[in-house]
Amino acid sequence: MGRNIAIDGPAGAGKSTIARSLAKKLGYIYVDTGAMYRAMALHFLRLGIAAGETERIEAACESADVSIAYENGEQQVLLNGENVNGLIRTEEVGNMASASSVNPAVRAKMTELQRKLAQTADVVMDGRDIGTFVLPNADVKIYLTASVEVRAKRRALEYEQKGMEVSLEQIAKDIEERDYRDMHREHAPLKQADDAVLVDTSDMTIAEVEARLIELCSEKKQENGDFFA
Ligand code: C5P
Repeated sequence: MGRNIAIDGPAGAGKSTIARSLAKKLGYIYVDTGAMYRAMALHFLRLGIAAGETERIEAACESADVSIAYENGEQQVLLNGENVNGLIRTEEVGNMASASSVNPAVRAKMTELQRKLAQTADVVMDGRDIGTFVLPNADVKIYLTASVEVRAKRRALEYEQKGMEVSLEQIAKDIEERDYRDMHREHAPLKQADDAVLVDTSDMTIAEVEARLIELCSEKKQENGDFFA
């Protein structure tokens, strides 16, 4: 069993930026589970499946092989062998990922893959249900959040930097809808694990969040003696 750090929280809380840099500092592998749900969503979209078509989604799970690889330390998501990293960061795919991830068949498939990864390597894994469901025995659990306004602005900036046209109002609306769906679904909903530490990043810089997380890992190191790689 590898060392596991679980980072959960809603969209735009800064999870991927922080998880990536923390993994680098610790010499761990960064696993972005949202990207896996996005790859599944792309598969459904390509098959012309709508969000509410439960039976078609379940059948399509069988023909989707999602796996991950690393290129220069960056996670690449493969869908049936095709690198789809460049295709999954759109609002359309994000909305489909949010809608299709309520499906237990989709979640079971992704959970199995994520647990296997965490067994074989030291990982910083981010998502919605990592500390509560995927890795309940993770060594460190963090729940990262921020206000809807701040999260919407961060997402808008990301899209603008990629040259995509965005409406801040629409992004805020999408974020609220996704939060609601993630928090109220029946299977593995988004919530803070009892033993997770809450970090609200609304008024924090990336450097401050990083420092806080390193501090939390160091506290764990003192408890366990050998936490860092
Ligand atoms: O984090 P990201 O926005 O890339 O995730 C896309 C969607 O995948 C989320 O809106 C969420 O509904 C779903 N997801 C999930 N469980 C995870 C990671 C992501 O349900 N562990």
